[in-house]
Amino acid sequence: MAALQRWAIRIRGQVQGVGFRPFVYRLATQRGLSGFVRNDGAGVAIEVQGSPAVLDDFINALRQPPALARIDDLAVSDLIPDRNVGDTFAIVASSGGPVTAEIAPDSAICPACLAELFDPRDRRYRYPFINCTDCGPRYTITAALPYDRPNTSMAGFALCPDCALEYGDPGNRRFHAQPNACALCGPELNWRDASGRPMVAADVIEAALARLLAGDILAIKGLGGFHLVCDAQNPAAVARLRQRKQRDAKPFAVMAANAASLAAWADINPTERRWLESPQRPIVLLRQHPETERRLPDIAPGLAHLGAMLPYTPLHYLLFHEAAGRPTGTAWLETIQPLLLVMTSANPGGEPLVIGDEEAARRLAGIADGFVSHNRAILARCDDSVVTDGGFIRRARGYTPQAIRLPGAGPSVLAFGGFLKNTVCLTRDDRAYLSPHIGSLDNAETCRALEEAVEHLQDILRIEPERIACDLHPDFPSSRLAARYAAKQDLPCIAVQHHHAHIAAIIAEHGLREPILGLALDGVGLGADGGIWGGELLKVDGARFERLGHLRPLPLPGGDRAAREPWRLAAAALHELGRSDEISRRFGARATVVRQMLERRINTPETSSAGRLFDAAAALLGVRELSDYEGQAAMELEALAHRHGPAAPLAGGFVLNDDGLLDFFPLLAWLSEGVAAELGAACFHATLASALSEWLAWARKISGIRKVALGGGCFLNRLLTTQLRAGLEKAGWQVLTARQTPPNDGGLSLGQAWVAMQSDF
Ligand code: ZN
Ligand code: ZN
Ligand code: FE
Repeated sequence: MAALQRWAIRIRGQVQGVGFRPFVYRLATQRGLSGFVRNDGAGVAIEVQGSPAVLDDFINALRQPPALARIDDLAVSDLIPDRNVGDTFAIVASSGGPVTAEIAPDSAICPACLAELFDPRDRRYRYPFINCTDCGPRYTITAALPYDRPNTSMAGFALCPDCALEYGDPGNRRFHAQPNACALCGPELNWRDASGRPMVAADVIEAALARLLAGDILAIKGLGGFHLVCDAQNPAAVARLRQRKQRDAKPFAVMAANAASLAAWADINPTERRWLESPQRPIVLLRQHPETERRLPDIAPGLAHLGAMLPYTPLHYLLFHEAAGRPTGTAWLETIQPLLLVMTSANPGGEPLVIGDEEAARRLAGIADGFVSHNRAILARCDDSVVTDGGFIRRARGYTPQAIRLPGAGPSVLAFGGFLKNTVCLTRDDRAYLSPHIGSLDNAETCRALEEAVEHLQDILRIEPERIACDLHPDFPSSRLAARYAAKQDLPCIAVQHHHAHIAAIIAEHGLREPILGLALDGVGLGADGGIWGGELLKVDGARFERLGHLRPLPLPGGDRAAREPWRLAAAALHELGRSDEISRRFGARATVVRQMLERRINTPETSSAGRLFDAAAALLGVRELSDYEGQAAMELEALAHRHGPAAPLAGGFVLNDDGLLDFFPLLAWLSEGVAAELGAACFHATLASALSEWLAWARKISGIRKVALGGGCFLNRLLTTQLRAGLEKAGWQVLTARQTPPNDGGLSLGQAWVAMQSDF
């Protein structure tokens, strides 16, 4: 018989709160190994004793972890065998020590829990807080590491005997499931009227569904915040929600019981279906059917896509179950269910998502007709994530705080992000942790939420940053906060140019170390020369960048105001084309002042922004003169181009100068001559794609580089991205796009952090 050996195994990665210790326990006891496993600050520590062959087999089995777990690092070292240990394997209490483990993201209810939820004989039949080690809340209920019940919002719920048995039984699916609970011992639903007063309902689910079907708007507490919910097929209810939320045109997301039910409203390709059904359950932008906009007026007006998701909490599922007549079992979930709910973040007027009950009653007063809530607190705000089949638009619930691996290790950086769609990023070694989407810092509440997010991220990661990073624009609230933080902690604060950060974010997630070309097509960001940039061709090399070229600037009559008023960009283009006399004819009396501004260059800075080029095109085509939200005109142009189908680029639609200036004024001139909107939009996209390819070919000639990163908000435009990528790849380019973060300002903090990590100062 081979001599006994004793091994110490340390595992890093996402290994806490995901059923990892019972998994280790099962593997060890099945093999008759003795020893123990415990959580510690770095992840999971195992000591295990047995014969070398069995130990080897044990290690191999460890490498296929449970559904929600992820092993980044597994290290084995030899210990002196202990002759006095018995043959038992135990799960022992967490040790203290420095914390570097990761908390898992929240996960949708798993199939095993769903089966129990709809089984009338199960003790958790219709219990809205059912979960297990393979599913349920994590990040949003956790205040600190290690991930143990006292550090979560389950701390106040003592386990009943049955739940305690499960919790303590290593063979049970709920062994050490921190949020484990049942109707006897766990959280419960509550039901309040519009003014927040408690209401009595024999069955809250039944009452809530009845109110929704009667056209009411309910605030329903989810995983990372409240949703405002109504019947998507009731136009009056949707219109009322829009009016109360003061959201004129921004699209609402919808929820259906399953992908089959969504297929009635939109096309779903296999990638989109995988996203929809993944345990992260993001909102997926699906191509609306042509008649959907008419059948669901006001949900996604004027857009090509419908934002849709599947239920992810037991509570969501119970609403659909109720609508289906409380069928037994889960077979009903395989069939088409007609219920379609609007599920929009409860964030009045662009402020942060509401998470607290008292806060909900106060901030949603006048919006919600009732509140479906519960007594399990949300400790971290986390919006729904939004994706397309091309990648993220918003990275939050289901993904936060999962680490992004960087190309290398470096000093810990805390990066404060930009102004719109703000996120923050904290790094340790070669890992970057992004906060969930925080929002646009145009109001005091969101700025406070940014400070909270910084604190929470530090609490759950316990990282002391060594460097601070922010945008080059000193007046962003995020930049001011960064400067204050750096001064207080006596840390260097590195200001990173906006478009450099956009490209660096892509470089960071793709693990690149060499110089690369970056095409940043964006709204606006402060340039290194003090100008307003946004259509940039950069060469990026670590902490340095060079501006090789940019779009021909457009005047911005009225400055920032022009970003919300595409017609001003159209007026500017006409002025530059020497056709000022047409401005008033097209845009009426309001245009007289703008024409004077343009002629006298008063309050008229210039911008090379690609976003503003889309605005000018949309207004010249008569598609949109005023926008309700950033990017609206561009999204509508994309929708029109989709409707038109493939088009050829406009011959002579652009001029590329030797100095790298790319000029689309010939294209704008053509668009202003009464072209049909759909044709114009399609041609606009095609001309952009072909001109950008030519621009890059020019840059390749002078730089010798054949790798390009496509960054900036304009690359949310699927049509442009697909066309450009196809052309570039055919010409031998390696094209990198944002995959783990959005290409828009939601990814800026990652890029800032990576630049700051590489800076010498
Ligand atoms: Zn489960
Ligand atoms: Zn219980
Ligand atoms: Fe940007």
